[in-house]
Amino acid sequence: MDFPHLAGWMALAVTLGAIIFGAGRRLGREEGAQARQREPDGGESAFYLRGLNFLLADEPDKAIEEFVKFVRINSETVEIHLSLGKLFRARGEVGRAIRIHQTLIARPNLSEGHRTAALHALAEDYRQGGFVDRAVEAYRQVLQVDPEHRAALAGLQAMHENEGRWDKALEILKRWELVTGEKDPRREAHIRVRMGLEEQQRPGSKTGGDRAMEQFFEAIRVFPGCVEGRRLLGEVLLTQGRTREAIEVLEGVKNSRPSHCFMLLDLMRRAHEQAGDEEGFFRGMRAATTALASSPRLVLHWARLLERRGRPDEAVEVLRLGKAHHPRALVIVAPLIALLDRRDQGKEALEIARRHLDGLLGAQEAFQCGRCGFKAQDIYWKCPQCHQWDTMDPL
Ligand SMILES: [Zn+2]
Repeated sequence: MDFPHLAGWMALAVTLGAIIFGAGRRLGREEGAQARQREPDGGESAFYLRGLNFLLADEPDKAIEEFVKFVRINSETVEIHLSLGKLFRARGEVGRAIRIHQTLIARPNLSEGHRTAALHALAEDYRQGGFVDRAVEAYRQVLQVDPEHRAALAGLQAMHENEGRWDKALEILKRWELVTGEKDPRREAHIRVRMGLEEQQRPGSKTGGDRAMEQFFEAIRVFPGCVEGRRLLGEVLLTQGRTREAIEVLEGVKNSRPSHCFMLLDLMRRAHEQAGDEEGFFRGMRAATTALASSPRLVLHWARLLERRGRPDEAVEVLRLGKAHHPRALVIVAPLIALLDRRDQGKEALEIARRHLDGLLGAQEAFQCGRCGFKAQDIYWKCPQCHQWDTMDPL
């Protein structure tokens, strides 16, 4: 047996020892004088030692047998089983964890609380092992006994999401919200977006299917910043010729999620065009990009769109203003330099580039440790991070 393996088993054995010692102490307190009369080497400690020997001999299955026997003679020590199973699962030995939890569940005299705990543990084993159907079934059994089991609700919800069972994922999310009193609007919004997309892809369903639209509307209602919900709903409304509603849905992103506004720019323009009000779009965007809260990406996309629409003067103005708000944003400075250069304003372009590079240079550290990567403006003969002598080189 190689050393790391041995060390792993030793850690397990020590943990087990601590658990069993704790359980023994609890029992001792409960049973009082009776326990104190017991032989120190009899019963549980003999099973423990034998189990420990099997662990050390790298025969964990036999070790489990011993611990199982040990638990049989002390019905109060189900916790040991559960801890042991958890340890195996944490070590990635799902098969062993499953065996332990199955053995536990098979016990006839198990309390309801312990049975639920064991079933939940088994569900977690199955989930980690990738046995999807069995995991779902085990979670459902837990919830039959305890409909408010938070961890089981969260586990089952995550499973349904991973499987792409969006209707069920939403159903369990709603139950989880009721039980915990918490809300997860971003999760709900994106589940509804997926449900809407499924409705759209259903054979025989028209793109503008009412059920899909309902889901997109609901997604935006629960989480107004849901950009994907706005995009999909905007597209459906546009195909149906409901341009005013589409504009309202799309423009809503300016307030609810200004940082992501640029992602809906093309669709917004199309909507305004379809409404015969392209100037309205330009007016609205001018206000949005000059607002202090405008993001560098919005400035960039807006400037590009202006240039494509044959309005390069405005594009330069937008970029200049953006640079005033976000002086270090490369996504603004680089296109501004390129645009000025294209417009034969190379001198100004060069000046901006030179100043920006100076700024970058000033912010850059002059020395770096070759050992740990620590950077600083001045040289340290002893690196303050890795404490090695004379490892810093000039950058
Ligand atoms: Zn260092």
